[in-house]
Amino acid sequence: MGGTELKYIQQAFADNWIAPVGPHINHFESDLAAYLGHAVEVAALHSGTAALHLALQLLGVGPGDEVICQSLTFTASANPIVYQGAQPVFVDSESSTWNLCPQMLQRAVEDRIHRGKKPKAIIAVHLYGMPYQSNEIRQIAQEYAIPIIEDAAEALGSKYNNRPCGTLGDLSVLSFNGNKIITTSGGGALICSSKELKQQAVFLATQARDEAAHYEHSQIGYNYRLSNICAGIGRGQLEVLETRIAQRRKIYQFYNSLFQEYPFVKMQQAPSDMFYSNHWLSVALLDPQSGLTPRRVQQALEKEQIESRLLWKPLHLQPVFKSAPYYGGTVAEELFETGICLPSGSYMGENELERIQQVWKEIVKSLI
Ligand SMILES: *Cc1c(COP(=O)(O)O)cnc(C)c1O
Repeated sequence: MGGTELKYIQQAFADNWIAPVGPHINHFESDLAAYLGHAVEVAALHSGTAALHLALQLLGVGPGDEVICQSLTFTASANPIVYQGAQPVFVDSESSTWNLCPQMLQRAVEDRIHRGKKPKAIIAVHLYGMPYQSNEIRQIAQEYAIPIIEDAAEALGSKYNNRPCGTLGDLSVLSFNGNKIITTSGGGALICSSKELKQQAVFLATQARDEAAHYEHSQIGYNYRLSNICAGIGRGQLEVLETRIAQRRKIYQFYNSLFQEYPFVKMQQAPSDMFYSNHWLSVALLDPQSGLTPRRVQQALEKEQIESRLLWKPLHLQPVFKSAPYYGGTVAEELFETGICLPSGSYMGENELERIQQVWKEIVKSLI
């Protein structure tokens, strides 16, 4: 935590706003909107998954529809497609940003149309904070008039061409889950381009209650609003967001210099100055010829009680999605097989980084 979160929580208690409504929610939304700029409207929700679900709902995705989704991502990117009774269509990554491959996306869109169904939406993800190739993807989306849902759950603070991630989609999604760059314990936001869309999102998120003196419903709604207490945490967290980004980027730089002398390790890297990552997680690829595997590095770190993670397993390889169509080659699969998410917590200081450096040197020694 940054330090002021507790003050906001205490204020919620003092004012008795212990509910999914209250002043912290409004403030958190306007603070976020101010941070993102570009006249966005923010709906605070209880998770990023809920935001993705509402985005699909707002775009009218329903049973039998198809939605394109980046394969190399967390399962929460795709699950809401299934909640809506729609069919996910997975697309491979390109190797520069590890995100949605424009060529494969185009092929997928054309083939789905050829088979008789135009995809209703494209879900593109900024993996580990690295922006996707927005211009290229937007061009395809525009050509075929398909809206983009930007999954910026991992990319608050990242920028593409100086524009904040979270403002690049027709609808955009943020997450404030415990593991993200800032957290409200659990939380998320849907970023909308108009007040009307935000109102519609909040309406659906609060049980779709029509204007009436009694409880009147002409649509099915959800209970997806963020709690006023959690929004208070979010207000405190926003105050330290810039610090968190600086910390994560510093950790990334530490790994970058650590691996300089090991040509068999390659970090996820911005392809050009257009891509500015918050480096939510520092991720490295290990050349299999070195004898190093992600699992081996993970186990060596684990022995020293240092946690690391494997990459997201591509969704088209997940048992639950095995019947979903897939367009692409083996880029996502190879990233999954050779990549490791290194310890990246904002709280890591010099001591922690030094320990990691020592363990890494031991790992390399064991190779010879
Ligand atoms: C965390 C995450 C989500 C889901 O957010 P929750 O707030 O945990 O529901 C969606 N997509 C990606 C890429 C994520 O990392």
